[in-house]
Amino acid sequence: MPSRMDSPLQVTVYERYDFAGEVGASLSAASNGSRFLEQWGVDVSAAKPVILKQLIMHDWSSGDVQKTYPLGDYKSKFNTPYYNFHRIDIHNQLLKSATEEEGEGPAVTLKVNHKAVEVNAEEGVIRFENGSQTTADLIVAADGIRSLTRELIGITPNFAMSSSCAYRCIIGADKLRSLDLEDYISNEAIEYWGGFGIDKIVMSPCSNGEVVSCYCFFPTSKRLGSDAGENAWASSTTPEQLVETFIDLDPRMKKLMLNAEDIKVWRLYRHDPYPYWVKGKVCLLGDAAHPMMPDQSQGSCMAFEDAGAVGLIFNKNFRNDYGVGEGLELYERLRKPRATQIQEASFRAREDLNERIGWSSSSDRPGKLTIEEVCGYKMEEHLEKLKIEA
Ligand SMILES: Cc1cc2nc3c(=O)[nH]c(=O)nc-3n(C[C@H](O)[C@H](O)[C@H](O)COP(=O)(O)OP(=O)(O)OC[C@H]3O[C@@H](n4cnc5c(N)ncnc54)[C@H](O)[C@@H]3O)c2cc1C
Repeated sequence: MPSRMDSPLQVTVYERYDFAGEVGASLSAASNGSRFLEQWGVDVSAAKPVILKQLIMHDWSSGDVQKTYPLGDYKSKFNTPYYNFHRIDIHNQLLKSATEEEGEGPAVTLKVNHKAVEVNAEEGVIRFENGSQTTADLIVAADGIRSLTRELIGITPNFAMSSSCAYRCIIGADKLRSLDLEDYISNEAIEYWGGFGIDKIVMSPCSNGEVVSCYCFFPTSKRLGSDAGENAWASSTTPEQLVETFIDLDPRMKKLMLNAEDIKVWRLYRHDPYPYWVKGKVCLLGDAAHPMMPDQSQGSCMAFEDAGAVGLIFNKNFRNDYGVGEGLELYERLRKPRATQIQEASFRAREDLNERIGWSSSSDRPGKLTIEEVCGYKMEEHLEKLKIEA
């Protein structure tokens, strides 16, 4: 960011890789995330979303539908729909909207193959593995669950490997049709098997209904004790191994698994909330600040909200109101309680589907996180309140 008050903000994104290894899996953005995508002018329709309409619970062994929860019209209730994307599609559109010329401010500069190895939070200096370095007024560290910047600003995470891990896989619509499983696409639903205990299958369509994506959760001990042995955390596995992991599962779902592509293992870690997110000119954002379990489908949504907060606080007039340090303090006060609340709800939902937003209501259990709290959140109002309190 430039230091002159009237200069437009200039943003450079440094990425350690070159995006060649993007994962094939779905990413759902409930209204609290999708509203920022729309606000930023991301071409959401070019990311080929499926608009999710319902949650369906299947019996684990027979596959019979046990319950259906209509999600209602998210657009009329919360102003933006509940989108389900293929991760690569939404990533491409985010990249395009940030780096193309048109827009309110100058385009973002992207520098790939720049792995940050040293960060001086007070001076705002970043040094990269390739020998280059840069200085900035503000450093937003969105370097994921294994964030190096987090350690460099003095945070030692208290974390443990989860007792759950997951396989993810995808399958094309043509294949599903040939297997007589096309209802898995046309339901426009997130469909579940299990979810009370560690085992759970979560399936949803994306890419305009051309792809179906599955997350298959199971006990970590099963993988460690399996034939994979020492190679337990090699990233790929076979359809046969996938099916063997869920031996008593619905035969239709097993048919999908036997024909699935790109089956990868996903290790899960449970991190306690960190003591702070900001130091000097640095703030943490996304999984670097609040890694969570995937069971609320809110990890990216929280990253989108964090980015929305940075945008609201450091708008083009921010220097008239406060400096970078005060802005970052405001960011932490705005974001940390909210993201921590969702992070904790994600831990509860890992082994209890009733805790997932969208299933049942707050009257089930006092303190249960509701869809209204998550999707109806009004960040602008929250921010104004904090500014008045300050
Ligand atoms: C099984 C599973 C399913 C999920 N499903 C959903 C879902 O449906 N909806 C949802 O909202 N969320 C979902 N999530 C969560 C979501 O994927 C994450 O919360 C999200 O990707 C976090 O984004 P991020 O940008 O903070 O981190 P990341 O996506 O991890 O990105 C970090 C980036 O920083 C780069 N990087 C790291 N270190 C450095 C360095 N030193 N220098 C330069 N660059 C660096 C990395 O290469 C990477 O590109 C799911 C997660 C899991 C595990």
